[in-house]
Amino acid sequence: MSKNKILLISGPSGCGKSSMLDNLFKDITNYYFSISTTTRDKRDGEKEAVDYHFVTKDQFEKDIKDGNFLEWAKVHENYYGTSLKPIEHALSLGKLVVFDIDVQGFKIVQEKMGDMITSVFVSTPTIRELENRLIKRGKDDKQTIQKRVKMASNELKWICKYDYHIINEDLQTASNKLLQIYKDMMKL
Ligand code: 5GP
Repeated sequence: MSKNKILLISGPSGCGKSSMLDNLFKDITNYYFSISTTTRDKRDGEKEAVDYHFVTKDQFEKDIKDGNFLEWAKVHENYYGTSLKPIEHALSLGKLVVFDIDVQGFKIVQEKMGDMITSVFVSTPTIRELENRLIKRGKDDKQTIQKRVKMASNELKWICKYDYHIINEDLQTASNKLLQIYKDMMKL
């Protein structure tokens, strides 16, 4: 099995993953972005079935019981999970599947589908810079930002397990690097 079936991207909340993926998706075709399911509150500007499937805790726990997730994790006290069926469908159509999931999810998907995955960890140049970006983004309260920063320090320990590490200092440069990784994995 070749490593060009799944592109998995992780990195602390606020490191710029979503913007980098938005840029990538302007340049590529024949991909499926895995829209995760979450119990966290919708942020301003987020849309159902575009950013996430937003569900209640009861619904999420039922989906766990029913075996609907390829992987799921509790991140910042909320559930996040990847539904299995759409992934299987996209892979059967020969599409590149793109995941944006945390390190816990990475570990599980890596165990289950490691030979199909190219993995990329995105970080800010420093933790202080991450904190500044979260404050600037203005979407989380002070306490949540502190939790996310603490969490990020733990996540950084996993960088060495990924195939690539991109330091997002400048969005355009980081996006170009991600596009190059895509081209390398697809042998373009
Ligand atoms: P946010 O709340 O900022 O959208 O996401 C918080 C964290 O949850 C990010 O690190 C993101 O990559 C991760 N995440 C999003 N969806 C999933 C998922 O389906 N599974 C796992 N394990 N993590 C996810």
